[in-house]
Amino acid sequence: MLRSTLLKLSESKGFANWVTTNGTTRRMARRFVAGETLDEAIAAARQCNDAGMHASLDYLGENVATISDAQHSRDAYLEIFECIAEERLHANVSGKLTQLGLDINIEFCEGLARSIVERAASFDNFLRIDMEGSAYTQRTIDLVKRVRARNPAIGTVIQSYLYRSEKDVTDLLAVGCRIRLCKGAYKETVDVAYPRKVDVDANFVHLMKMLLSSGFYHGIATHDPRMIAATIRHAAAQQISKDDFEFQMLYGVRTDLQRRLVNDGYRVRIYIPFGRDWFPYFMRRLAERPANLGFLLRNFFRK
Ligand SMILES: Cc1cc2nc3c(=O)[nH]c(=O)nc-3n(C[C@H](O)[C@H](O)[C@H](O)COP(=O)(O)OP(=O)(O)OC[C@H]3O[C@@H](n4cnc5c(N)ncnc54)[C@H](O)[C@@H]3O)c2cc1C
Repeated sequence: MLRSTLLKLSESKGFANWVTTNGTTRRMARRFVAGETLDEAIAAARQCNDAGMHASLDYLGENVATISDAQHSRDAYLEIFECIAEERLHANVSGKLTQLGLDINIEFCEGLARSIVERAASFDNFLRIDMEGSAYTQRTIDLVKRVRARNPAIGTVIQSYLYRSEKDVTDLLAVGCRIRLCKGAYKETVDVAYPRKVDVDANFVHLMKMLLSSGFYHGIATHDPRMIAATIRHAAAQQISKDDFEFQMLYGVRTDLQRRLVNDGYRVRIYIPFGRDWFPYFMRRLAERPANLGFLLRNFFRK
């Protein structure tokens, strides 16, 4: 209920305006967002590297409505890859197809994605396409497979809350695609997604086992200690090396767990979002943590 309310509010322009101009909420957002500039994201990635973790830089933005906004995002991604190489960071890049014009025209979007992947490959780097709401799942998988057929420096994300995900994992593994597994962060209906956490978690464990046993390098993206323990147990039982997969976590979330996994010899990558368009990302993070909701709403209704 709380989660749905927050995800619904993430679509409200009035609420967005208040959140992004209010000093308190801007400060709250900084817990989850490294800053508004590339320099701030690079500094955060450097800190991760110094702490023994890799990074994935995400230039925030989604559902752009104009060709020029999509081209602007493409340019930003090209610059990020240049900067990572110049700074010699252990970092790759995450981005969304609706930020590259998927809502406008799919061929146009694919052209922009191709140019970013070519730049990634030229630096021996990698572009991860985030998974958005279920209306985009099939188009995202199809586009990633087409781009990947020419250039393997691209992978995508699978969400364990979707009923379809086992089939999608099988489909992507058949072409050797690297996958990030997460639970899923969008508002979905019972037609497409498990409504109960227990089922989302059970499917996560099932899909994690498919990924780890596939022989390809994947990312297990969760802060849930039970999902992490299940992954560690499965890897040990199947004699899968700690170097053959990585855990991924979000900037600002469970930093204690991040450090513990590094100390235990696991690979950890931190997803570092930055940019001015942080409102929807921030709202999804709040939806995952109802403890923050009361504070935010009290401030909103007092305004
Ligand atoms: C690297 C990475 C990339 C992701 N990419 C995508 C994507 O492309 N598409 C997509 O739909 N989703 C994505 N997600 C989000 C994901 O789907 C979940 O919504 C999110 O990770 C919370 O699920 P959880 O596995 O941590 O488990 P949960 O059961 O939700 O949480 C487990 C514990 O983690 C902690 N926690 C989780 N979230 C928060 C938070 N926001 N603030 C504070 N503590 C928290 C709490 O201690 C909680 O008890 C990504 C997540 C990660 C880590």
